Amino acid sequence: MDFSITPKQKEIIDLARTIAQEEIKPASLAIDKSGVIPEGLMQILKQSGMTALAVPKEYGGAGLDILTVAMVAEQLAMGCAGVATVCAANALASFPVLIGGNEEQKQAWCDTLNNGGMAAFALTEPGAGSDAGAVSCHAEKTEGGYILNGTKCFITNGPIADKVTLFANTRKEGGMRGLTVFVVDTHSKGFSIGKEEDKMGIRASATSELILEDCFVPEANRINREGRGFRLAMQTLQTSRPVVGALSVGIAQAAVDAAIAYSQQRKQFGVKISSFQMVQEMIANMVMKTEAARGLVYRACSMQMTGDPKAAMFSAMAKCYASDVAMEVTTDAVQVMGGIGYTREAYGEKYMRDAKIMQLYEGTNQIQRLVIANEAIH
Ligand SMILES: Cc1cc2nc3c(=O)[nH]c(=O)nc-3n(C[C@H](O)[C@H](O)[C@H](O)COP(=O)(O)OP(=O)(O)OC[C@H]3O[C@@H](n4cnc5c(N)ncnc54)[C@H](O)[C@@H]3O)c2cc1C
Repeated sequence: MDFSITPKQKEIIDLARTIAQEEIKPASLAIDKSGVIPEGLMQILKQSGMTALAVPKEYGGAGLDILTVAMVAEQLAMGCAGVATVCAANALASFPVLIGGNEEQKQAWCDTLNNGGMAAFALTEPGAGSDAGAVSCHAEKTEGGYILNGTKCFITNGPIADKVTLFANTRKEGGMRGLTVFVVDTHSKGFSIGKEEDKMGIRASATSELILEDCFVPEANRINREGRGFRLAMQTLQTSRPVVGALSVGIAQAAVDAAIAYSQQRKQFGVKISSFQMVQEMIANMVMKTEAARGLVYRACSMQMTGDPKAAMFSAMAKCYASDVAMEVTTDAVQVMGGIGYTREAYGEKYMRDAKIMQLYEGTNQIQRLVIANEAIH
């Protein structure tokens, strides 16, 4: 397997690393506390293209393949997984349009991101989480478009998005056969932001409800055919799950680095704690698991790029394994760092809180295991 990257791709990965280490990480503990990314940092993310990672070359973007997007996400997550999630959510929201949209829809969407606009992917509802087919947000056909009514919840970038790829049902009786994707302009009449969540981790990223009350969406904003939404949701998540894996690897790597650095400066019993074999065992396991997760994430990306028939299974495995590793490694990092790792002065506990969401969003790890078992058994 060849994970080699071109000099152009290396340029953007190096840029992401520099932004993560020089701009994001030094601000990350303060951002974690306030839950707000300073405007100056948002501008850096926008101007450097970090909020438009998925935009293809033909629509004015960097034209990164999914492996490079994942590598960039990994670097950003080493600075702060919340900030990285804000950028990754723009890519996630783009995939339904890029996979299923027509030329005008793709160009209009990409123009928004190229101009610094923000986006959100809105599938989840209070009654439709793991069961995406249970979406009850309704799209009623009317002259020239659709009238949308319903509530979406837990939507990343909800409060800051300019455009949303939103899943609604065109069938009154519901069911996945009526699921349809619409691009909703957040300035539309009848669109509003509901409750904003106060979260355990990735606090830099805003998460909220989105409320649609007789919100008119033009027919030109319907992505692909009525009823195509479930398939587009699955294709989108298959594309994006390795990126969640990459965010997880970034968190795990940051935790490994923090634990090693701490173990080399903290002394007990007159020696550095890195000289204790039990600490060394923890560090060895952390390094080993993080590398194994990275390998699986990169492999899943490369399988998507070649259209491998097992790409969906590897996508689920990469997300599931890497996020489980991130949870284990960050928990051990706190252990290596002792009491200070448990406080908000050091990064340890933040990494642990940030890692937890990786096992939940874009399909819980139970759902990933269903996908994996289904593919493996049949
Ligand atoms: C911070 C955050 C950001 C998010 N961002 C977005 C976003 O941008 N867009 C979006 O659309 N959604 C988003 N989500 C929603 C997220 O994808 C869902 O929370 C997730 O898919 C789980 O759905 P649920 O919370 O309804 O849990 P449920 O589906 O109610 O699951 C509860 C528990 O039951 C288990 N379970 C459910 N069904 C099965 C089954 N068949 N077999 C075994 N176990 C099962 C689950 O694994 C879980 O442990 C976000 C959520 C959070 C917390």
